[in-house]
Amino acid sequence: MTKTSTHKGAMRGGALVLFSAGQDSATCLAWALTRFARVETIGFDYGQRHRIELSQRPLLRERIAGLRPNGEPWGGEMGADAVVDLRGYGALAESALTADRAIEMAESGLPTTFVPGRNLVFLSVAAAHAYRRGLDTLVGGMCETDYSGYPDCRAATIDAMQRALSLGLDREIAVETPLMRRSKAETWALAREIGGDALVALIQEHSHTCYEGVRAELHEWGYGCGSCPACELRAKGYAAWRSAA
Ligand code: ZN
Repeated sequence: MTKTSTHKGAMRGGALVLFSAGQDSATCLAWALTRFARVETIGFDYGQRHRIELSQRPLLRERIAGLRPNGEPWGGEMGADAVVDLRGYGALAESALTADRAIEMAESGLPTTFVPGRNLVFLSVAAAHAYRRGLDTLVGGMCETDYSGYPDCRAATIDAMQRALSLGLDREIAVETPLMRRSKAETWALAREIGGDALVALIQEHSHTCYEGVRAELHEWGYGCGSCPACELRAKGYAAWRSAA
């Protein structure tokens, strides 16, 4: 198992993590704390049909900041958090995540959980905030590996956004996506590598992925209904990681 370096001399400047309190963004937040001297977070209220993600954010953020992987504090300092009201956008882009309708595959082949342009909007707003905060890197949990085929999660989309943001702000903005080529099992493995069993336990208990907003029963992979596409993906990834470990 690789020991993650917390040597401060190797730390880069400042990063803004797009933090939704899901498994992926929680892993990204810990990842950023091993690489950047200053780490801030941003979250978006786009009228999600359940509020659990947003309500889990402060607790999960605080617990991750307080972890001492390998008995030492993170190399980076946890800075401010911002939650941006994007309910106007959410109302425009309404889908199964934001409206009360069944989650099923749409005729386009995209899940009805697809919110058109979501990551494009999030990255644009995050870049504006990062600009004001003097942060030059955005960190997001976008992943094109075993995800649902959302076109705004693809590496090509993110690369193009990085270029558009840098041009439009006239400042180099890097968009880092540490999970882009990882399966869900590999994302669990990364959490273990970065923050040990303590980080895995935090993510299991306090992160939230379930589309249905269910937190009634704690499964070994975390809370959730166990049957929506997000729960299925998370449970499958956890099982694959455990059987490979
Ligand atoms: Zn679920």
